[in-house]
Amino acid sequence: MNMDIIIQPIYLVSAGLFILSLMWMNHPSTARRGVFAGVVGMLAAIGGTLLLPEVHQSSFFISYRWIGLALAIGFGLGIPLAMVPLTAVPQRTALSHAFGGLAAGLVGAAEFYLSATGNRATALSAFETSALVAEVLLGFLTFTGSLMAAGKLTEIIPTRPILYRGQNAINLSMLAVAIVAGVLLVINPSWWVLFPIIIVLALTFGVMLIIPIGGADMPTVIALLNAYAGLSAVAMGFVLDNKLLIAAGALDGSSGLILSIIMCKAMNRSFANVLFGGFGQVRARAGEAEHRTAKSASAEEAAQIMEAAQNVVIVPGYGMAVAQAQHRVRELFDELTKRGVNVKFAVHPVAGRMPGHMNVLLAEAEIPYDKLVEMEEINGELPQADVALVLGANDVVNPAARHDQSSPIYGMPIIDADKAKTVFVVKRSMNPGFAGIENELFFADNTLMLFGDAKAMIGSVVQALKE
Ligand code: NDP
Repeated sequence: MNMDIIIQPIYLVSAGLFILSLMWMNHPSTARRGVFAGVVGMLAAIGGTLLLPEVHQSSFFISYRWIGLALAIGFGLGIPLAMVPLTAVPQRTALSHAFGGLAAGLVGAAEFYLSATGNRATALSAFETSALVAEVLLGFLTFTGSLMAAGKLTEIIPTRPILYRGQNAINLSMLAVAIVAGVLLVINPSWWVLFPIIIVLALTFGVMLIIPIGGADMPTVIALLNAYAGLSAVAMGFVLDNKLLIAAGALDGSSGLILSIIMCKAMNRSFANVLFGGFGQVRARAGEAEHRTAKSASAEEAAQIMEAAQNVVIVPGYGMAVAQAQHRVRELFDELTKRGVNVKFAVHPVAGRMPGHMNVLLAEAEIPYDKLVEMEEINGELPQADVALVLGANDVVNPAARHDQSSPIYGMPIIDADKAKTVFVVKRSMNPGFAGIENELFFADNTLMLFGDAKAMIGSVVQALKE
């Protein structure tokens, strides 16, 4: 029986589920359904692949035994990886991409070996060899690049950009040599020695690509590496003649690219600036803080002012995620709403450490979705707000982005919290945020600092409101 009659429809359903999954993940209210569709789609894909004749006929290298072992290892690594807190998701994602890239690279290497030793059903055609070179190049560079990104995000390796003269020229030459080697291999497949050279160049290029990029840009780079891993899977689909891999890889590649474009736009940066800009070198100008003083207030004072307000805008940031303060924020929302105060949440596209970070946390605390307002929309309302409560956010409310051309975040769109009548800033100290720069908002006349852990401080404000 031709198993394709069963396998291809399964693959089609699987590809459809992946598309639905991406579509549903676009909104918090359908995101869970999106995750579920993705899981079912992947199960169907694995199920369909297990029905392939080469798996069914079983040889020493391809058999259910090996696949079972690989699945067990995958589960063994994947389940603990899924348990990390939300704040560690960027590095976790980088590790997943590293594994994806490695898998694509290894499959490509195995196919090349089989063809070169005459053990492949058919020798690789010129088109298949080109696809294989692309697969291996992208797969291995994604592997080391993603490992470096995870290392920078976990601060195992220094997060600051490491720059030297002629760096971009050296990196681009290395890539060019790898591409030329690939072209020569396509022209003459018997020059097999070029293949390990391509692998070594790809592995090295992945490391060199990430070295000049600062920690603050890592999440954007991860989205880009996601795109590379996807393209590598597309190439692998052509080599293995697997249509589902082509479809899934294309979805992965395009969604990664779209995500990195969205992130670049939200930070007002170009791709070239992220990849070659060495962002993160500029640090706080020492001493400046000494000349200015910030005013602070107590939880009770904050409660009094918020209770008397008509409009309160809460601006959450990374600190809310670290403190896991979202449930206390929900209590504050309830207490204020009960008293007739109109409370909204201003969500900056890059608040936190990954796109959608704040939406996920606020949805977890069951804050109504219609109270979450995007930056462009809420900025028009902030001049009328009585209170802006900046909760563990820093860079995304730094007015220097609007006017200080020497600031590394100059040009990044921000939430205009400073335009509210009174601004409360909840954070533990005067330490800078991710970009490593001082925030002039903290010294503004209308700003009052609420020093403390976000969860404890909001808890105290809620307590004061209740009393
Ligand atoms: P920031 O990283 O600028 O600032 C977070 C602030 O939270 C810190 O100043 C810190 O101050 C405070 N904080 C930390 N822990 C706590 C706690 N337990 N309780 C209270 N406060 C706490 O955060 P933003 O969200 O404003 O900005 C995000 C940054 O990340 C931007 O620079 C953005 O470009 C970058 N980024 C985001 C990406 C994304 O996709 N979201 C991707 C790439 C980069 P203190 O230590 O004094 O408490």
